[in-house]
Amino acid sequence: MSDVREVIVIGSGPAGYTAAIYAARANLNPLVFEGALDAGGALMTTTEVENFPGFPEGIMGPDLMMNMRQQAERFGAELVADDVTEVDFSGDIKVVKDSDGTEYRAKAIILAMGSGYRRLGLEGEDRLSGRGVSWCATCDGAFFRDKPIAVIGGGDSAVEEATFLSRFGSSVTMVHRRDELRASHIMAERAKNDPKIDFAWNSVVTSINGENSVESLTLTDTLTGDTRDLPVSGVFVAIGHDPRSELVKDHVKLDPEGYVLVETDTTQTSAPGVFACGDLVDHRYRQAITAAGTGCEAALDAEKYLASLN
Ligand code: FAD
Repeated sequence: MSDVREVIVIGSGPAGYTAAIYAARANLNPLVFEGALDAGGALMTTTEVENFPGFPEGIMGPDLMMNMRQQAERFGAELVADDVTEVDFSGDIKVVKDSDGTEYRAKAIILAMGSGYRRLGLEGEDRLSGRGVSWCATCDGAFFRDKPIAVIGGGDSAVEEATFLSRFGSSVTMVHRRDELRASHIMAERAKNDPKIDFAWNSVVTSINGENSVESLTLTDTLTGDTRDLPVSGVFVAIGHDPRSELVKDHVKLDPEGYVLVETDTTQTSAPGVFACGDLVDHRYRQAITAAGTGCEAALDAEKYLASLN
């Protein structure tokens, strides 16, 4: 049986690494499970990040994450490139297992597993991610000034993305599989009244085309099966996102969409000594800086909780 640590962090995006930096600087010797396949989190899949404070010229997503990783290591965080596959939060000592079934025990746990954008599942999607394909208008809209843009989806968040993007793009085409938006009436009206937004109804994207950057989409009509080319430089996929809470769904309370619930104004979950942060908790803001901010909060909450045990 392993020693009992002060704190284990699960996840290595901006939330997990920031929690690790704060916990390490508080001498809590955090053990950080970074994930087996995608250590560094969502920003490892993007190119330039222009809105993280402190980098006036912008910084590449992977470089930002490597900096955070190094900063956590510098203060003594121990990093493990593996997934946590099982947890038990029922006792005062929490237990997590890695992919080999090895047990690790700690008095406090910080959950920072993030969330995943739903994908279209097309070949060009990953290849052209950061080269025209994006899941975040706030992050990437400014790269498409005066260029034609498509937004895929028909719900509130797709409309929100489209109306935001119409400030930048020469045109914004909303591609939706049905013949009316799923978004609320007020949001739908806003999109319909925006002179820069038009609609490709009854259409699904069947191909994202371009060699080194997005050049066009192939749209297939869901009623007739006809295909056509839509020339665009940017495509924003807004078909939803799913928190990575499967691991903990029987151990902490989740909201109906699967996000981990925390007590108002804290990062405390329904399990004492277990804290949650970043996109795993956050429906609304979903930014690197907000994830880092709540990662800091989780470490401070864990520190306070550990002090209360003594
Ligand atoms: P994530 O970054 O998703 O990290 C979660 C981590 O948890 C991953 O490392 C994963 O491996 C790990 N994990 C999951 N399950 C387990 C497990 N069972 N065991 C161990 N580890 C696990 N935001 C901005 O502010 N500016 C931008 O320019 C910007 N651009 C973006 C571009 C793209 C393409 C994408 C996808 C997102 C972008 N975002 C941007 C959003 C930003 O990346 C997220 O808001 C942020 O990364 C969320 O941080 P997080 O730490 O909560 O989760």
